[in-house]
Amino acid sequence: MKIEIAEIKRIREELDLAQIVVYGIDKDGVSHVATHGDTEMDAEAAAQNGNTMKDMLGWPKVLCESKPLARQCRHCNNFIPLVNSNEPLPKDTIPFVGKCSLHEITINAMTSCKKFDPKAGL
Ligand code: SF4
Repeated sequence: MKIEIAEIKRIREELDLAQIVVYGIDKDGVSHVATHGDTEMDAEAAAQNGNTMKDMLGWPKVLCESKPLARQCRHCNNFIPLVNSNEPLPKDTIPFVGKCSLHEITINAMTSCKKFDPKAGL
């Protein structure tokens, strides 16, 4: 089981925190760490604190180098990819251009804004 970023974001906002680091153990005994920050700087700092926590818990080094999710439209719940149905994209390809359901504008998938809302499953 994965702790979803959208869920951590919701908790952080509910508690009015700038940063949050969550540690949990699932019913199979597997540990999880998830982080979120208000600004991109907060997100970087929270990720670094999460990495420090994992390191102190003895997690493998490769798992202690996490970076925050890039705040790009393609990772946002409000992003609707524009796909040309005549030219199907290979599976797992992320279309470069899409629409924002919130702002009703056509956007570049790399754009971001203060309304960034991480997709479920990330
Ligand atoms: S413009 Fe903002 S709200 Fe819209 S998809 Fe991009 S990051 Fe999300």
